[in-house]
Amino acid sequence: MTSRKPLMAGNWKMNLDHLQGTHLVQKLDWTLRDGKHDYGAVEVVVLPPFTDLRSVQTLVEGDRLLMGYGAQDLSPHDSGAHTGDISGAFLAKLGCRYAVVGHSERRHDHGETDEVVASKAGAALRHGIVPIVCVGEGLDVRQAGEHVTHVVGQIEGSLAGITPEQAANLVIAYEPVWAIGTGEVATPEDAQEVCAAIRATIARLYSTGAAETVRVLYGGSVKPGNIASIMAGADVDGALVGGASLEAEDFASICRYQ
Ligand code: PEP
Repeated sequence: MTSRKPLMAGNWKMNLDHLQGTHLVQKLDWTLRDGKHDYGAVEVVVLPPFTDLRSVQTLVEGDRLLMGYGAQDLSPHDSGAHTGDISGAFLAKLGCRYAVVGHSERRHDHGETDEVVASKAGAALRHGIVPIVCVGEGLDVRQAGEHVTHVVGQIEGSLAGITPEQAANLVIAYEPVWAIGTGEVATPEDAQEVCAAIRATIARLYSTGAAETVRVLYGGSVKPGNIASIMAGADVDGALVGGASLEAEDFASICRYQ
């Protein structure tokens, strides 16, 4: 029996301005409080664009909402001459609990390497923010049957410099690139296979204790209709949800997947 609390994180990507974002947060909270389900059984997190964060903070803190929030990225630097970057210190001041690092769209659009991802994960941890470290193989790697080796290599590179104490609180998201935004979801067996390999890698790099507490999410075309079977995997502790997190009803159904 695991003590890991399931985590459902909604990655809004570059969607919803701060007015639309606060509207969604209100509707999501209201939908989750339907009186029939245990809202607190799952940790619900939204990951809005940077420009929405202050508004989301005001709403979540002001109305004492149960959900948490975080950022989709952060700078590896803490301050200084890095035009356009956002520091983990700023995000911590805004009450961000999480920051995504190494999402495949950033690896692709901005050429982020495992080394860059590791320095961003370190920056988040320096400011008390939990990094959600994303890894996942492309279609060519999957078709070659090298997905586990590939993902294990990404984990080793993306966690360079993370200490054993820090490792225990990490969140890792397995997001096969071929499943993101494509409607092509991994089978529950595929998701479990790679999530188990990620946990085994944490045990090898750090300790079995860290492997027991680290939360491993699956991401890639998660919808209300497929979340229950994905969550059945013993090593799947939640989901990183893109498209389906933009609709309150859909994301609420994903959050109460049981
Ligand atoms: C994501 O953005 O991390 C993601 C998994 O997107 P989608 O759910 O739309 O595939």
